Amino acid sequence: MRVLVAEFRQESNSFTPVTSPMEFWQQNGILRGSQVRETLGGTPSAVGGMIAALEESELQPEIVYGTTMSCQSGGKAEQEVLDYFLENLEREIIESLPLDGVFLSFHGALQTTEVDDPEALIARRVRELVGEGCVIAASTDLHGYISQDLITTLNILCAYHTYPHVDYFETGHRTATLGLAAATAEVKPVMAWAPIPMIVSASTYNTHRGPFRELMEYGESLVAEGTLLDFSLYQMQPWLDIPVGNSTALAIATDRETAASYARELAGRLYAARHEFTTNLMSIDDVIDRAESADAAKPVILVDSADSCNAGAPGDSMAVAARILERGTTVRAAVVVNDSTAARQAHEVGVGNRARFTIGGTRDPKVVRVEVEAYVRSLHDGVFTQEGPAGRGMVNRIGRTAVLRVGTLDIVVCEWMAGNGDPQLFRAHGVEPTLYDLVGVKANTSFRAGYTAFAGEICETDTPGSAAASLDRLDFQRLPRTLYPWTDAEDVTFPVAFSPAVAR
Ligand SMILES: [Zn+2]
Repeated sequence: MRVLVAEFRQESNSFTPVTSPMEFWQQNGILRGSQVRETLGGTPSAVGGMIAALEESELQPEIVYGTTMSCQSGGKAEQEVLDYFLENLEREIIESLPLDGVFLSFHGALQTTEVDDPEALIARRVRELVGEGCVIAASTDLHGYISQDLITTLNILCAYHTYPHVDYFETGHRTATLGLAAATAEVKPVMAWAPIPMIVSASTYNTHRGPFRELMEYGESLVAEGTLLDFSLYQMQPWLDIPVGNSTALAIATDRETAASYARELAGRLYAARHEFTTNLMSIDDVIDRAESADAAKPVILVDSADSCNAGAPGDSMAVAARILERGTTVRAAVVVNDSTAARQAHEVGVGNRARFTIGGTRDPKVVRVEVEAYVRSLHDGVFTQEGPAGRGMVNRIGRTAVLRVGTLDIVVCEWMAGNGDPQLFRAHGVEPTLYDLVGVKANTSFRAGYTAFAGEICETDTPGSAAASLDRLDFQRLPRTLYPWTDAEDVTFPVAFSPAVAR
């Protein structure tokens, strides 16, 4: 048996004007061959999970390592990035034929400057090369857009079961285990797909509590009792402006009827809960009021999800800092901003000195910027290790970083942002969140994994930006208004499509 493992993964945001060029992808490192095993083997990543499942398997498959490339969420990938990946993958596949499996780590919500559904395009190209007898299996984020085109091309697809995402490894492991079963088992897994005509704000659900958690637990109970081999539930992320869109339920069983009926049932249950996924956002001023209030437990976390790099926004908005400065509040506050110009300037100015800075708006000209005199409190190389629990141990490099102080406001300024849901983005730079009244976090839900342990209050806030929590703030041009929340149909039937059987 021979299986090729590769990765091409980014969550794209259609609304930011800043595209994701090759240099952006190179920041995470592009790996191939033995580098993949050395770098990702044993890590809590989807590729790490695939490698573990393959190495544990009694089938002892030969593993061929193809190209792996992933990057921080951002604007649409430049088309040359997809072309580069495809060129490499096609060569790697041709050189290692015949293959029994091609196992891919995707996000599912990638968009390029020219292609709206690159994952489906990649799967089609792979199929053309490997034929119908080879298993194509992929892992994805549960925020992916899963098209009929994708599902009718590959054989196995598995999404994370957690949000905040803490099961990258487990998802890769499930994908590879089912992929091997699809290649060898007497009774082949059958995968059914049911599209759900809804998108909701990503800040309205997580798997810690509420209807989304209940649905995940129901799906897991079906797997535990042996009714299903696997299931996935996708809430398509709402920053993708494409001509077709849907959330998705997938069910994998040993027969078509079971797979189809549970895909429909899971889809129906998610759709029935649609009204429970509503945003309840505070204004920036309301949150500053809370931080000023003696009644509020500290630190108050101001969730600036609209400028979350995890959701593809540039992270360069100073909307929160601007309000803090305009109000002249004396709350001890900390915020973070992605501004390479200000970060480099701070390194020139030096620790202990003051200078006039323009901060913010260097990537998206529409966002709020501030002009202030600031004191350079500390300078850093921007290398930090995530404390987790999500992504614990992952190393982030955010370039030259500085902590600037204006009154009682500390601003962490970096050359580019990563790990923005992890408290170490502040702590590693000498800004201890528990010593502040207000901490502005540029993340959507990922931060809850690390922040819940010490947050006094968590305030979802109505901030401006290309990853706005409120769908009303987003300028959809292409996505059909036949989806909920624009259309709220009661009687919805869920069409089902199947993935092809592996011809062996
Ligand atoms: Zn996600």
